Amino acid sequence: MFKRNIQPKKIEEKPKVDGAGEVPVKKGKAPPELLRGFRDILSDEQARWTLVRDRVRALAEAYSFDRIELPILERADLFARTLGKQTDVVEKEMYAFEDPSGDLVAMRPEATASVARAFVNHGMFNLPQPVKLWYEGPMFRHDRPQAGRYRQFHQFGFESLGVPDAIVDAQLILIASRLFRDFGIDITIQINSIGTPESRAAYLTELTSFFRPHRNKLSEDDKRRLQKNPLRILDSKDPAIQEILKDAPQIIDWLDEDSKQHFTKVLEYLDEVEVPYQLNPHLVRGLDYYTRTVFEIWEAGDEGERAQNALGGGGRYDGLVELIGGRPTPACGFAVGIERVVKALADRNVSPEPRPHARIFFAQLGDASRRVGLRLFEEFRMVGIPVAEAFGKNALKAQLEVANKLGVDYTLLLGQKEVLDGTIIIRDMDSGAQEIVDATKIVSIMQRKLSVAEGVNRPKQDVVQ
Ligand code: AMP
Repeated sequence: MFKRNIQPKKIEEKPKVDGAGEVPVKKGKAPPELLRGFRDILSDEQARWTLVRDRVRALAEAYSFDRIELPILERADLFARTLGKQTDVVEKEMYAFEDPSGDLVAMRPEATASVARAFVNHGMFNLPQPVKLWYEGPMFRHDRPQAGRYRQFHQFGFESLGVPDAIVDAQLILIASRLFRDFGIDITIQINSIGTPESRAAYLTELTSFFRPHRNKLSEDDKRRLQKNPLRILDSKDPAIQEILKDAPQIIDWLDEDSKQHFTKVLEYLDEVEVPYQLNPHLVRGLDYYTRTVFEIWEAGDEGERAQNALGGGGRYDGLVELIGGRPTPACGFAVGIERVVKALADRNVSPEPRPHARIFFAQLGDASRRVGLRLFEEFRMVGIPVAEAFGKNALKAQLEVANKLGVDYTLLLGQKEVLDGTIIIRDMDSGAQEIVDATKIVSIMQRKLSVAEGVNRPKQDVVQ
């Protein structure tokens, strides 16, 4: 139960806090371990992450979505009310706890509820509609960690609030599908309509009675679902249930006239812009706030495996803003898991250029030289030339070895004599040739040299695997 989740389990389990506010560190040799389901994203993965983030930002700007940054911690109740108390996310997976002021808070498991909250808090209904927002950041679910499933993961999402028309749904699906096409990832859009809460009610009665004769085949979890939130049973990954579902009534046949027309229009718009989709009568999405259109983005070829590893998903949530106390505001949106996109890129050996490597190395000999170096770094930064160093090494030989490893074009050598003379030695790393130049002109000299070398002697760059 959600209630139980948000109570701190046992007071004794809380880390004991010293007077100074420091949590005592366990003494011993074992290094601290990462929490299960959490991970570091190291520098060799960053090129792909940057590629994804840059493309998402460019797409958002092209379609005039404005960025919104939302807090990681929200009142726990925001998610319980909107996602649904019977959903796995709220019931089992939420990082919810009492904060030091006694408020029940949760680390956000998703961001749509926060977007709706921000929409209400900041009176965005006064802006021209639709209000189009996008976000990106970490989400937290205490899920069972497995391949492609983490407890801290990242999503980007697009939300369009204020307009009920089917064109909004179609535009969002178009944006998602274009993004994946640009990435070279083949996807299918799985799509369905779950109608309005009213039209759903009749269907749910029908579905419950359809399952009655099959009750003994259901797991305890599914029995509970059938009682509390029968729609969720359509999402079941249990092969026996999937078999039964083949004959189950389909929600699409129970839609009210308006929802039916709305859905037909979404599909027509998608046909118009040639976005292929697959009608999926079992797709309902896990969360309570969805109405009408729901969709998921699956990697092509994954269709047989159900949505275990969907790249993203979304849909219309016409009742959400009102549910949290705002004016009735139709809305639609989607979220995509960045880890899954990055993995799909890695599976295709997409290796974006890493951050530009330094093309100059600064070798220092003695303290006076280091001081000049500090200033020089700043001067090179101003003109956009990255410079590397090895302040941990003092011997020239050792520093030149580092410079060689980094594959820079030039090393600047600065010893005591040069500092006194106001000069610097430039060493061409390919030929080994050295020249002495006026230290005050070093930046412009290097700018010239590097632009001449451009194209002839490209910097050696690591390829991200
Ligand atoms: P959802 O809101 O659950 O449909 O999530 C939307 C997308 O976020 C999914 O399609 C995944 O790409 C990603 N996602 C959700 N949960 C996780 C998780 N535990 N680990 C990694 N990615 C996730």
